Amino acid sequence: MQEKLTEKQAEQLTDWYEKNRRSLPWRDTGNPYHVWISEIMLQQTRIEAVIPKYEAFIRELPDTAALARCDDDRLMRLWEGLGYYSRARNLKKCAEVLTENFGGRLPEDYALLKKLPGIGPYTAGAIASIAFSIPVPAVDGNVLRVLARVFAVREDIRSEETKKHITDTLSEVYASAHVSCSSFNQGMMELGETLCLPAKPHCSTCPWNESCLALQQGTVSQIPYRSPLKQRKIIRRTLLVIREGEKFMIRRRPEKGLLAGLYEFIGIDEDLEAKDALAEAEKMGMTPLRIRPLPDSVHVFTHLEWHMKAYEIRIAEGAKLKDGCILVSRAEIADKALPSAFRAYTRWYALREDE
Ligand code: SF4
Repeated sequence: MQEKLTEKQAEQLTDWYEKNRRSLPWRDTGNPYHVWISEIMLQQTRIEAVIPKYEAFIRELPDTAALARCDDDRLMRLWEGLGYYSRARNLKKCAEVLTENFGGRLPEDYALLKKLPGIGPYTAGAIASIAFSIPVPAVDGNVLRVLARVFAVREDIRSEETKKHITDTLSEVYASAHVSCSSFNQGMMELGETLCLPAKPHCSTCPWNESCLALQQGTVSQIPYRSPLKQRKIIRRTLLVIREGEKFMIRRRPEKGLLAGLYEFIGIDEDLEAKDALAEAEKMGMTPLRIRPLPDSVHVFTHLEWHMKAYEIRIAEGAKLKDGCILVSRAEIADKALPSAFRAYTRWYALREDE
C-alpha cells in the first residue's frame, strides 16, 4: 500500500478545491461557531436538508451565549428533521461549558476541542483546521472512502485499526506539503461528497485519477469494504392519534433513551387491532367516540426499525390527562419537537409548514 499522500497530490487536491468548491452558507465566514454548528448538523444528514436548518438555527441562535440560554423545547424544534437529537443536546451542553470556562469561545486548541461535549476527533479536526488553520486531520466516512480508494485498501473500513492506518497516512501531508490545511481538509470532504461517491464515482473529473490505485486496479466498486452490520431489530408499534375537537394529544418521551425528551403521539409497542386500541384509550381514562385507521409507516433508526400502524381516535371532551399527556392546538404543536419518526402523521394532518 502507498503509505502517504504526496505533495503533488496535496497540491492537485487544493487546486481542484479552490476552483470547484460549492458555495455553502457556513463557508468562508471564518467563524468557528458556524463551522462547529454546520459540522455537527452534517453528521448523518444530507447537505440539502442541513442548509435551511442551519440558516434558521444561526438566525435564532447566532452565538454560543444564545445557544447556552436556549430553552430545550425551542432547541429541539430547531433541530427537528435532522434526527439524532442527542447532537442538539450536546451542542447546548457544550455551549454552557464554553460560556462558563472559555469566555463563550471555542478554544483554538485541537486537544481541548476534543474534550468538549459532543465534539469527537472528526469535528475537532474540522473546527481546528477550517476555523483556526491548525494542521490536523478531519476524517469522516467520506474521507475514509476517498483514501481507501486512493490507496486501494482492501481491509474492513469499519475496523478501528484500518481507520487509524488510513488517518495516519495524512499526518505527513500537513508537515511537508505547502498547502493550506483548511483547503486540504475541505477539499477531501468536497471530493468525497461530490466526486468520489459511494456508488458512482466521477473518476474522469477527479484530480487524483492519475494516482488513484483503486482506479488503476479496477477495484473502485469493491472499495471500501465494509463488514456487514448486525440486522436491525424490528419493533411493531401502534400509535393512537387522540383528537379532542381540533386538539391533538401528545406526551413527552422519557428523559433517557431513544428520542429522549421529545414529544410523541401515544405509542404502544404492540400491533393492536382497533378494538384493542380503543381499550387502551379507555384504560387511560378517555371516552372514545369513534376510531379510524391511518396509513401505516416505517421509521428506520440506526439499530432498530419502528413499523407503525396508527388510529385516529376521537374522544369526548373533559378527559383527565394522565402520564404527562397534553392536549394542544395546531398552533401549539408547531412549537413542540415531534421527531421525524412521526413525519407520516404530521404530514397527514399538515402540522408542519416546512414539510
Ligand atoms: S479516481 Fe475515482 S475512485 Fe479514485 S479518488 Fe477519484 S473519484 Fe475516487
